[in-house]
Amino acid sequence: MSGGENVRGPGGTVVIVGSSIAGVRAAQALRTEGHQGRIVLVGAESELPYDKPPLSKQFLSGTRDQAGIGLLTSAEAATAGIALRLGAAATHLDPAAHRVRLADGTELGYDTCVLATGAAARPAPWLTAGGVHVLRTLGDGHALRRDLAQGGTGHVVVVGGGFIGAEVAATARRLGHDVTVVDPLPLPMARVLGPEVGAHLAALHRRHGVATRFGTGVRSVTGGTGDLRVELADGTVLAARTVVVGIGAVPNDTWLASSGLRLDDGVLCDAYCRARGVPDVFAAGDVARWYHPGHGAHVRVEHWTNAVEQAAQVAHNITHPEAMRPYAPVEYVWSDQYDFKIQIVGRPAGPAPDAPVPGDPVLIGRWEGEDARAAALYGDADGRLRAAATVNWPRALLDCRRLVAQGADLAAARTRIDRLAEASARPAPSPATSPSGAGS
Ligand SMILES: Cc1cc2nc3c(=O)[nH]c(=O)nc-3n(C[C@H](O)[C@H](O)[C@H](O)COP(=O)(O)OP(=O)(O)OC[C@H]3O[C@@H](n4cnc5c(N)ncnc54)[C@H](O)[C@@H]3O)c2cc1C
Repeated sequence: MSGGENVRGPGGTVVIVGSSIAGVRAAQALRTEGHQGRIVLVGAESELPYDKPPLSKQFLSGTRDQAGIGLLTSAEAATAGIALRLGAAATHLDPAAHRVRLADGTELGYDTCVLATGAAARPAPWLTAGGVHVLRTLGDGHALRRDLAQGGTGHVVVVGGGFIGAEVAATARRLGHDVTVVDPLPLPMARVLGPEVGAHLAALHRRHGVATRFGTGVRSVTGGTGDLRVELADGTVLAARTVVVGIGAVPNDTWLASSGLRLDDGVLCDAYCRARGVPDVFAAGDVARWYHPGHGAHVRVEHWTNAVEQAAQVAHNITHPEAMRPYAPVEYVWSDQYDFKIQIVGRPAGPAPDAPVPGDPVLIGRWEGEDARAAALYGDADGRLRAAATVNWPRALLDCRRLVAQGADLAAARTRIDRLAEASARPAPSPATSPSGAGS
């Protein structure tokens, strides 16, 4: 910090805590927005920044290695003037003194601080002698990959049928393992997408030879690496080589407990992503719970695209304090499960945490077969399109994203996507008569 005074705009020191996608993108966006002062990127892990979505997909299947999931090399950081402080967790933030303390005792002064510490996997509630995994970090990814590789094609039990659990199940199956998915919900992802789409996702698991135990919790897991015993709430016992637990994530905000910042399942922020009452501390990514003006509520989003977009918005608001913009995205997430690319825009269940998906979505298209291509449209109480989920249908996704952003009428959206389905069902015109190669 220069001379103790607080500098915003193009100069000054920005300390970014958290060196994954939100932190890296915030640092890079600060430069493209014209920030000329120091940027320090602090990360608890000692590895160079890496991306998380491939951990349950290409990294786990072995088709991408560590270098293939990197987000920032040392050379790129040096070129962009980003100082890296890796392997040093932040342990305390003092907003009044503008200082961040690290685990090794050093202190960093800042003019502006960006909190991008993300989230951690909710830990497995069972103590075993190994063999039970969560998947959040590169270290987790290496451990699980090693375990799967050593186990031949032994039985993998996945606890939790949400995004991570379903992706791990799909990858383990592709690697030739016998897989069982267990979830206390009667249908997977029903909390996010409702029971109708959940039923299609349950069928997807089964079509790919995965056993499912939905509607049953896990009472205990005992044993150790290669020889585990999973007891379900209904008394069934499953023998497993490996257990993967995907039961959600918790924001990495406990280190801020002594900071005086307002914490409520994440760092509570205003619409400009500034920590409430502390205008020179911003938050982005999985750790931020900010006031979303479009929803009229505070929300926290655990999706990659949000981390990228929110980091960019934070960088803009830091460098242009005279022209700050509120952050009101249409949420977006994708998930790769077997041969389904699932893409979701908006929030089917609305902004309230843990609220059920209200009403039945409009289902369009084919949810099974090699040519599966489908959409689910979710309306709100006023008959507008609130959210949509698509399967293997990027064109419908693009239209839905625009229609959700416009607050389009659900009936009009249905007509639009129905027409798209009809058009794509018609035989393609011969190349001689086709005016363009545009797909549908
Ligand atoms: C296996 C997996 C698959 C995923 N797949 C998808 C997908 O298909 N689509 C999608 O949209 N999203 C996906 N996600 C979610 C997406 O990866 C996250 O939303 C995104 O990584 C959030 O980025 P972030 O930078 O906010 O937080 P994180 O990625 O959690 O990074 C936070 C960083 O901060 C560091 N940190 C934590 N505490 C401290 C501290 N005190 N001091 C210093 N550093 C600290 C951590 O070590 C970490 O490097 C997936 C996540 C996982 C784990």
